[in-house]
Amino acid sequence: MKSLGVPTLVGIPFDACSSYLRGAGDAPPKIREALRCYASNSWSETGVDLGAEGAYEDVGDIDLIESKAGGRDPFAKIEAAVAALIEQGKRPVSLGGDHSITFPIVKAFARHYRELTIFLFDAHPDLYDEFEGSRLSHACPFARIMEAKLAKRLVQVGIRTMNGHCREQSRRFGVEVIEMRSLPAYDRLKAAGPVYVSFDMDVLDPAFAPGVSHREPGGMSVREAIAHLHAIAGTIVGADVVEYNPGQDVAGVTATAAAKILKEILGKMIQEPLP
Ligand code: MN
Ligand code: MN
Repeated sequence: MKSLGVPTLVGIPFDACSSYLRGAGDAPPKIREALRCYASNSWSETGVDLGAEGAYEDVGDIDLIESKAGGRDPFAKIEAAVAALIEQGKRPVSLGGDHSITFPIVKAFARHYRELTIFLFDAHPDLYDEFEGSRLSHACPFARIMEAKLAKRLVQVGIRTMNGHCREQSRRFGVEVIEMRSLPAYDRLKAAGPVYVSFDMDVLDPAFAPGVSHREPGGMSVREAIAHLHAIAGTIVGADVVEYNPGQDVAGVTATAAAKILKEILGKMIQEPLP
């Protein structure tokens, strides 16, 4: 039996594939600041003290500046950085960034973990074959992941923007879509084998999380999101929290919500049984 690696935060300050607004690239330090804010304590609701020595690690942000200057492909850089953490036996928890980063992240996971189950929390299915001329847009990552067969199962929770094209794509890839109007769906979040959780902040209702690039009303409360995260049954080997856009935030409430979600994800990861 292999022991599970320590959850390790890594910031990915990248928003060049966001279709409507930029700004998500500024999120990682703001989420960290909210996570460590003395307004709250360091315990998850499930009873894990994240302030305990060695509970989790933080390797800082990936340096993508050289990429902005036309250097190495940022996606290759993200994939290599995440793969290196996995090879060191850690469980990377990425702080985005727009949602396009989940494609190179999951590429790195798929090298190491076969039969990955992905639980996606999102208002959007992100299954476009291409969006506004780009196949790497933040509207496309799960089309790339599924066509490359990087995951065995993709379960999407909280979807409320399904259109004809994406519905067709979801059928083509066998995606398990749980639309917002069908919640709660606690019993559908069970997986055998390794689990990756991708949390797009816009799954939350804009009343709870205005700091996103695409506000979509009719979403989850923070409580509903936490209840579904707590309901996950399986071994979480990695996660991301993406699409927080500080430029759209109001009084930092979305940063606080992102930190709360992150805390509960880390708490779940630490508490899980060994595979
Ligand atoms: Mn998304
Ligand atoms: Mn979204």
